[in-house]
Amino acid sequence: MKQKFGLPLVNAHTHAAMVAFRGMAEDLHLEEWLNDYIWPAEKQRVSSDFIYEQTKKAVLEMQKNGIKVFSDMYFFEERVAEVAEELGIRVVLGEGLLDFPTPGAKTPAETLEKTEKLLIKYRDNPLVKVAVAPHSIYTVSKKNLLKANQLAEKYQAIFHIHLAETKKEFDECLAKNKLTPVAYLDKLGILNERAILAHCVWVTDDDIKILAERKANVVHCSLSNLKLGSGVAPIAKMLDSGINVCLGTDGAASSNRLDIWEAGKFAALIQKGINLDSSFLPTKEIVKMMTVNGLKALGFSAIDGQNIAEMEKEIEKNNYNFLYALNTSEIDFC
Ligand SMILES: [Zn+2]
Repeated sequence: MKQKFGLPLVNAHTHAAMVAFRGMAEDLHLEEWLNDYIWPAEKQRVSSDFIYEQTKKAVLEMQKNGIKVFSDMYFFEERVAEVAEELGIRVVLGEGLLDFPTPGAKTPAETLEKTEKLLIKYRDNPLVKVAVAPHSIYTVSKKNLLKANQLAEKYQAIFHIHLAETKKEFDECLAKNKLTPVAYLDKLGILNERAILAHCVWVTDDDIKILAERKANVVHCSLSNLKLGSGVAPIAKMLDSGINVCLGTDGAASSNRLDIWEAGKFAALIQKGINLDSSFLPTKEIVKMMTVNGLKALGFSAIDGQNIAEMEKEIEKNNYNFLYALNTSEIDFC
């Protein structure tokens, strides 16, 4: 008989349709990987129908792995909403905003218009929530970040962005703005409880204080950061500071499976290893990161009649020592 696990797993940062690019380019630095492989492939292949077909594959894979909620940042996100409603999965979707033309929009203004239409259309939808999703501080200008933030403020929407992923991003931000990436976003007034920040690998102790004060949410993408050689986010320190840290797989081109169970296992093992302390990130903490912390970050207070407080009680009373022994095919995500 399979081990039962009744809590919803949450994948708080992915680019679902990137399952099409899984295994396409390996062993590369992030910049080379993006500039020479991913962005050209996206330019060539990404269309509205591509997003629908590939997201469907991605969602089936996530559902098989017990994921009940995911947060997506990509293009033609109206098709992601369609898939979520067809397959019955909850999604927070955000049309990727960049300063240059994307497969889904010719200009940043068009992306923001599209986002606003989606925000209005899905305002009261039980499965679909809409986020404002600028790609990063190195692909989106200050002016467009502020416009994105205004839109998020207007609809009290989630602000989803990649932040402090690589040393290069950190060093360039420091050189250009005399601020770390976290301090830069804070100065722009963007950090609050609706911010979901993917990665946060390159953060200082002062950055951690800012993130905690602003109640911003960090999405730790353990496998993507390792595979792209970006480093290890200090999540044990972040959790100690009271930051809500949840987990993401990132896209399948960088991680390479859409498996939060695996991302959680890796997250715990890395922290134990780099901190030389096996007591770091105990199994219950990891289960919280895989479930309730993700729900909190994405603004869901209850799922299928179970609220967060009840889920937290359940986690406290249960034993999850099977976390390291089993993979998702050996678990019944009832
Ligand atoms: Zn990402």
